[in-house]
Amino acid sequence: MEDILECNVIRPFQVPNSLPKRTVLSCIQRLFDPLGFLSPVLIRPKVLLQKTWTLKLEWDAQLPTDTEKEFRSWLYKIALLDQVMIPRCLYLDCERDVQLHVFCDASCEAYASVAFARSVVQDTVRVVFLWAKARVAPWKRITITWITRAQTWNTFVKKRVTEIRNLTDVKSRVHISGDENPADLPSRGCSAARYLKTEWWKGPHWSYEDPGDWPKTELMVNKEEVNMESTECVLTEVALERRCFSTNFSSYPSNLRVIEWIERFSSRSCKRGICAGSLSAEEIEQAERTMVGIIQREAFEPGKTYGKNLRVGVFSDGLLYVESKLLYSEESEHFRRPFLLPHKHPLVDLMIREEHLRNNHAGTHILMSIMREKFWIIKSRKTIGRIVRGCVKCRRFDQRPIRRRFWTYF
Ligand SMILES: [Zn+2]
Repeated sequence: MEDILECNVIRPFQVPNSLPKRTVLSCIQRLFDPLGFLSPVLIRPKVLLQKTWTLKLEWDAQLPTDTEKEFRSWLYKIALLDQVMIPRCLYLDCERDVQLHVFCDASCEAYASVAFARSVVQDTVRVVFLWAKARVAPWKRITITWITRAQTWNTFVKKRVTEIRNLTDVKSRVHISGDENPADLPSRGCSAARYLKTEWWKGPHWSYEDPGDWPKTELMVNKEEVNMESTECVLTEVALERRCFSTNFSSYPSNLRVIEWIERFSSRSCKRGICAGSLSAEEIEQAERTMVGIIQREAFEPGKTYGKNLRVGVFSDGLLYVESKLLYSEESEHFRRPFLLPHKHPLVDLMIREEHLRNNHAGTHILMSIMREKFWIIKSRKTIGRIVRGCVKCRRFDQRPIRRRFWTYF
């Protein structure tokens, strides 16, 4: 009795009359191939299924005619896999010079790897199939030239390249042409008939020859493709969205702190002076200006009037300020040219609330004068009054006792 592995294709393998996407998936899932013996054959319907996703077909929609024809043809021939017989024994005691050969290849449709064990038994070469895996190619193309090049890669590539380099020896890798590479077949897929004809599981024909005669070709590197993954130049514009502040952080100082550290990171990345340690007063001041800029960009449309008798100017960095009547007084610059702020903005609300808390739950009038030192809030009395009335502590302590009326009867 031979020690072999066979394929048990359920007979008769019913070919359904109608072929919606749902049925195609069902047919694919009925085939169980844990070691990847049949990966060259089984990758084809998976590639076809991926095409239906690009067409955005519903689960019960019929396949396009050409795809259905190809799938039916594949399905009719699958019964041929009954004839596949693969030796189960991997290693004999008397074997010497056992080598592990792993091949990988990628096409536009799929990528695959396959492993064979090569050994010599009494001057006869024995090649045994070990394992194979094929996957439908992702939309973003990848390149295996990463592994051999000493270059700085982005984080995703770097992690994988480092892992592969640690596990294997660079010198043990060679490039061979597609015709000689057994991983070529599962990376493209084939019919069951062609699979039987090639006897793919027996390994490449050249592996039975002397190592000196093995094929080896120079790898032609697509430099453009490789450089796409390189980290030579990192230039990232940080887009500060309002949502990330108002949603994630419920207090004004937390939002400000985030901007401060983002700006510190940005200036270090662009090498605008080396800053380290605690944040400086200039950095905090700059972060506040950034915050005001975010609020103004979101709240004010260009060319719009901002209020009655309000003269608005623009600072060199694009921030809007109100030209107060005290423009030439000896007050501070902020007081003479306060930043213009809208009356409805979550960050303005947080800013007022912060001042309210910092000043021991100050009332509307006091808060108005405090905020006026630096900011000009449109409808400030109404806006600040709304925040103060919303303070739970203030409401609790401001409640007046209930007055009872006493009636005297004679
Ligand atoms: Zn309060």
